[in-house]
Amino acid sequence: MLGPNASHPSSAPTPTSGPTTSSPLLNTLFSNPVFAGGFGLASLGAAVSLGRRGFMATTSLLRRQLLVHVEISKSDPSYHWVLQWLAQPRDPGGFVASRLTRMRNLAVKTTTSSVGGYNGVGGRQDISKTTHADFRVQPGYGRYLVRHKPGVYIGVNREKASTAVTATGEPHETLTLTLLWMHRHLLSDVFTEAHSLAQSFNQGRTVVYTARNMSWQVLGKPRMKRPLGSVILDEGIKESIVADVKEFIGAQQWYTERGVPYRRGYLLYGPPGTGKTSFIQALAGELDYGVAMVNLSERGVTDDLLAHLLTQLPERSILLLEDVDAAMINRRQRDSDGYSGSTVTASGLLNALDGLAAGEDRIAFLTTNHIDQLDPALIRPGRVDMMMRIGEATRYQAAQMWDRYYGEMDTDHAGRDRFLKRLHELGLFGGDSQDPSVPKRHTSTAAIQGLFQFNKGDMEGAINMAEGLIPRTFEP
Ligand code: ADP
Repeated sequence: MLGPNASHPSSAPTPTSGPTTSSPLLNTLFSNPVFAGGFGLASLGAAVSLGRRGFMATTSLLRRQLLVHVEISKSDPSYHWVLQWLAQPRDPGGFVASRLTRMRNLAVKTTTSSVGGYNGVGGRQDISKTTHADFRVQPGYGRYLVRHKPGVYIGVNREKASTAVTATGEPHETLTLTLLWMHRHLLSDVFTEAHSLAQSFNQGRTVVYTARNMSWQVLGKPRMKRPLGSVILDEGIKESIVADVKEFIGAQQWYTERGVPYRRGYLLYGPPGTGKTSFIQALAGELDYGVAMVNLSERGVTDDLLAHLLTQLPERSILLLEDVDAAMINRRQRDSDGYSGSTVTASGLLNALDGLAAGEDRIAFLTTNHIDQLDPALIRPGRVDMMMRIGEATRYQAAQMWDRYYGEMDTDHAGRDRFLKRLHELGLFGGDSQDPSVPKRHTSTAAIQGLFQFNKGDMEGAINMAEGLIPRTFEP
């Protein structure tokens, strides 16, 4: 039987008593100075670690709340504009190396440019010839702090991904701009400035892209636009192509409404040195487009590369596929001839053209010197919508070219008449059908240009040397 002593206060737990006072074991432990000290230290450590985590979480939260980051991928056109913008000279102190920066981490961007030149009568201008190098410094990889305006700083982080690789096989690159949240509205200024800087750099110029390392790369410095008037084609040809291209550019809605891919193909064929490439370049200048060119007879151009390039066409550019007949050489022929040029096949070319990225206007120009070798499947709407022969020099072209070179000094056209008469005598406009003794010959506009350039300001010299226009290789 339980007596009153059975509920002795010392053995009965009270609701307020804690473990320290209630447990004799804990009491013993805490009265031990070694244990109490260790426990104190452990608690302190936990508190510090908790505090640190809390601090990190708070700073990360603040960073997220207070900063704004914009990541620009290398594949985006603005990547290069912004890099160029960052490389612009700034007022002293405008380019500040941050604590994290690898100091003076700059990179050089070298571009080579061609000085297309005429190399003798019958020679041709090679727009991919490189003779001049231009070096520009731009931010290298790493982190920077750039002063955009007084009191406004932009963090820049240019990174090359170690693993991610773009479709072109190159390592992926990004540029990240970081601004204070309150300065976020300035981002649009940065992009607008960078874009107009890129535009002013290319003002009055034509950007030419070529295929390198599986991607389109700007070839040299953008060259001065070639005026359309400087390319003399036979009567009406230039005008009809220009009108057609312009109509196409304005007809996006028509294509969209009918679900037709918004692209148009042109085939210019005829002998070399007649102005095909020059015309396309001048047309691009007239439209304010770039030219993205691939020569299909070049070594290393494969079906896969071509297909890939055509889906990555730079914006606002005309696609120029030169020497498309090279794709018509079949494999057996290649092997037996020991052919070492391009390995593009006819079907590869057709597929690539059919896959030409939709969306914005796509204008493709194909050129060939051998129309007879082309697969008829190429000349189908959507691939080739318009064909033009750009032929040997005609009387009309010779006269126009004369006027461009000597018009100012030959006001009564007497010199031009003598020159044209001489070309007639030489049978250079295909021979005179009335007179069987006149040989049937042709000359090229490139050759006439060469003659005039050689005799700059010298009409007599040009007339006297007209015989040099006879193409020697075609003489018996
Ligand atoms: P193609 O592409 O037909 O082989 P290019 O356009 O490369 O000919 O011309 C070679 C050179 O001759 C260039 O320097 C170009 O300026 C000149 N040329 C050829 N044809 C013409 C033309 N019709 N009008 C003006 N220049 C021409």
